Amino acid sequence: MVELTILGNYGPYATAQGACSGYIINTDGFQIMLDCGHGVFSKLQKYADYASLGILVITHLHPDHYGDIYCLRQALKYQMREGKRKEPLYVYLPEGPHPLLDEVKNWDDVFTVISLEDAMKTVNDFNLFQLRFFRVQHQLPAYGVQFQRNGQPVLTYTGDTGWFPELAGLCAGSRYLLAEASLREYEVAERGANHMSARQAAQLAQSAGAENLILTHFFPENNLHQQQREAEQNYDGKIYMSGTGKKYILEP
Ligand SMILES: [Zn+2]
Ligand SMILES: [Zn+2]
Repeated sequence: MVELTILGNYGPYATAQGACSGYIINTDGFQIMLDCGHGVFSKLQKYADYASLGILVITHLHPDHYGDIYCLRQALKYQMREGKRKEPLYVYLPEGPHPLLDEVKNWDDVFTVISLEDAMKTVNDFNLFQLRFFRVQHQLPAYGVQFQRNGQPVLTYTGDTGWFPELAGLCAGSRYLLAEASLREYEVAERGANHMSARQAAQLAQSAGAENLILTHFFPENNLHQQQREAEQNYDGKIYMSGTGKKYILEP
């Protein structure tokens, strides 16, 4: 079984009960974490077993996607000292522009770092599943992630991105599309280079032929009912509004 758990779904800051970007894919007990933004580590302890995390992917170096890696590092360090964890965590992250990469490389007691610039050149095959990374359009180097089983796209996560013509092809055929919907519609003209609205996320899901759309990365002031309506008007598939603690069976 492959299950997706939402740990946090806000950006660039979270609500009182929420957290910024953080998602767990659990595939037959192997856990892949996508992003580790502000507030995510406390949710991680509630909804998953962090001591057994296998892979962490940081899609880009904005704090709402990596801020809690500092908590995670400390927690893993003590888990290893206590003998509850033996192996370092594989961390995929961009090479810049923040010096975070150097910091994380220095934490080689708990992390083994892999550059997304290198990883995007190939399909990363872990036998049970494959990970494919692709560049998206954002203020700084940013990546989307596709989780595949037997080479078939199961989940594609856009990370933070504006809409661009190639994006539908990169997400094509995915059973689930986890797409950012940061913007209110009237903001698209000004900020659409770096983020999408719910309408754009829905149009992306439609043109990519995705069977299910999960909207995420909400600005806390957004009206989620309105965003859902805007998405429904532009997409024939099933729409889910993400929320902390929500789980989705990606593959039975
Ligand atoms: Zn963000
Ligand atoms: Zn960002």
